[in-house]
Amino acid sequence: MSGENIHNVIIIGSGPAGYTAGLYGARAMLEPLMFAGYMSGGQLMLTSDIENFPGYPQGIGGAEMMMQLREQAERFGLKVEDKNVERIDTSSQPYSVWVEGEEHKAHALIICTGAEAIWLGVEGEEEQKGRGISTCATCDGAFFRDEEIIVIGGGDSAMEEATFLTRFASKVTLIHRRDVFRASKVMQERAENHPKIEIRTFRQVKKWLSDEKGLSGAILEDPRDGSTEEIACTGAFIAIGHKPITGFLEGQIETDDSGYIIHKDHTMTSVSGVFAAGDVVDTRYRQAITAAGMGCQAAIDCERWLEDNIH
Ligand code: NAP
Repeated sequence: MSGENIHNVIIIGSGPAGYTAGLYGARAMLEPLMFAGYMSGGQLMLTSDIENFPGYPQGIGGAEMMMQLREQAERFGLKVEDKNVERIDTSSQPYSVWVEGEEHKAHALIICTGAEAIWLGVEGEEEQKGRGISTCATCDGAFFRDEEIIVIGGGDSAMEEATFLTRFASKVTLIHRRDVFRASKVMQERAENHPKIEIRTFRQVKKWLSDEKGLSGAILEDPRDGSTEEIACTGAFIAIGHKPITGFLEGQIETDDSGYIIHKDHTMTSVSGVFAAGDVVDTRYRQAITAAGMGCQAAIDCERWLEDNIH
């Protein structure tokens, strides 16, 4: 630390980007402090198997990988607190970070808060959240043993969730609003070829239906002509993408219209000494490996910035 109670760098968030930034920061002797969030580890804690992270020929569980990344960073001195950051103030050096009402100060910040699932926002959804409608197959899939489930979306998340849910469900119907998929070929084909999965294109959920037991189905609409039909299901998983977690920044760091942090100079944001990495920035790749890579870049940029500007 460069002064009493002033940290070199505080890392906010703890997915692959945050832990990798923590690992590099700790190895550079910056003594980084991380606020990992109450649900540390980020979205990958909810992912069953990661098959595309180089170095794991048999794949690895998402939670297991996050625990290993954390252990590795902590071994080099990363300090982690499983708390949420409420707000930051970057109007003067050192910067302030508020956690549970307490102020922490640091010369530099690395923001790695990632993204969270988007909901459809159609009629009946609020009432059925947790009563049949979910955005996390890994968390809730096992509640739907031998039941009929629908999955909404046409990207990798939807393919992955649909394939995972075949472990429990008697049938999985994947509903997509177009007939073109954003999903990678390998994941799309795995879903298409699965005997328990039916894919229905040109359909979107107009309204959720329920009975006294919870979710009972949905009204689907064909976006081409507005015609509707009913589908029965007791479970529904929404996998239509994510939005960045940047609300706590309260406009202090420049973001795009969707809330993603904008990089101004390599991984540095609109505020000098504030860096960002991973899904909170990335509108394009959004992979564990790219987040980890960007976390590394942010830590290196941060180290150089501290050398040039503070020490
Ligand atoms: P995504 O690729 O953005 O796909 C979102 C899907 O949801 C699209 O098919 C989109 O349809 C649909 N959608 C969006 N809003 C909708 C709405 N209001 N109603 C109905 N459908 C809607 O998101 P993702 O699948 O979560 O993937 C995000 C990133 O994570 C990608 O880069 C992906 O490769 C990555 N990922 C990777 C893996 C893996 O490699 N194992 C697993 C999961 C995710 P349109 O196509 O019509 O817009």
